[in-house]
Amino acid sequence: MKYHKKTVDIVVPCYNEEDVLHMFYKETQKILDHIDGYHFNYLFIDDGSCDKTLSILRELSITYSHITYLSFSRNFGKEAGMYAGLKHTTADYIIIMDADLQHPPSLIPTMIQAIEEGYDCCAAMRLSRTGESKIRSAFSRIFYRISNQLTDVKMEQNAVDFRIMSRQMVDSILELSEVQRFSKGIFAWVGYHTKWIPYENVKRPAGKSKWSFWGLFKYAIDGITAFSIAPLRLVSTMGCIISLFAFIYIVITLIQTLIFGIDVPGYVTTLCAVLFLGGIMELSIGILGEYIGHIYMEAKDRPIYLIKETNLPKKCTSASKPAQKPTPRNEENYDTSTME
Ligand code: UDP
Ligand code: MG
Repeated sequence: MKYHKKTVDIVVPCYNEEDVLHMFYKETQKILDHIDGYHFNYLFIDDGSCDKTLSILRELSITYSHITYLSFSRNFGKEAGMYAGLKHTTADYIIIMDADLQHPPSLIPTMIQAIEEGYDCCAAMRLSRTGESKIRSAFSRIFYRISNQLTDVKMEQNAVDFRIMSRQMVDSILELSEVQRFSKGIFAWVGYHTKWIPYENVKRPAGKSKWSFWGLFKYAIDGITAFSIAPLRLVSTMGCIISLFAFIYIVITLIQTLIFGIDVPGYVTTLCAVLFLGGIMELSIGILGEYIGHIYMEAKDRPIYLIKETNLPKKCTSASKPAQKPTPRNEENYDTSTME
């Protein structure tokens, strides 16, 4: 009987990573060469890079047959990249890792061992955040504290998007086809048995982080609103409490007026009440707006990404959203000149 090697697909989202791609492949391959019994394939996602990322991927895929790539028509973000990658994998196990070598390939053998032990997933978590700005670390801590309080899914604070998953877990993740994706939450939401392996934070060898503080802030708000309606409950509870106090205050004022007549004009009280309630109302509208924004984006049901070019065979490139309607739109424009 022919011995069937298990297959592992490595999904690597890349955005302007020309400086590190060769290094990434060399370093990762050094590790994979020592792992027997598995067949590894790479799937790079060029997330609309404006540097030489795509041409490097084209070259690599010509030189090495186990390298495939998808190239988006523009920058759709890392979340879209990861979703597209997962969607186009076919292997028994799937690894997601960054292209910048901040996710040490040396952890791959331990990850594979964990999944062979029976875990559905083995994910990496940073022991420290050295090399990261103090403000970013502080906000990240606050985000995880708030998020874990408000939502049912418990996210590991130092988790990174470096993990190996079973086919079954990936298929479950793909069932969550929301447009505004927050993978850390999705990974936690789908459940499954996850082993955590700690590692020391590594600095980027080249290139720079694509995250701005504002980008991370918006991502954090999306993360909370995507997994919890607790902020809405908070607003309605606040509304009830304020109404109760207002009612008591109205009764007291009425009684005072009836017994003692009109007292002082009450300038300060009025001003404080107007400002306080104004602030609370703005906040409430803002929170409502966040949820309406989510509904709006999801209702439009736009594709999560558009593929411009790929070296994957056409039968492997499926639509960027599951076809829920009988007449799906033409969601992907392939550059057929690069099809096999
Ligand atoms: N990335 C991407 N699309 C983006 C931003 C980033 O595919 O819009 C990729 C990037 O190329 C890298 C990974 O996501 O492989 C992590 O990005 P980065 O290193 O900028 O994030 P950080 O490590 O600072 O969290
Ligand atoms: Mg990085």
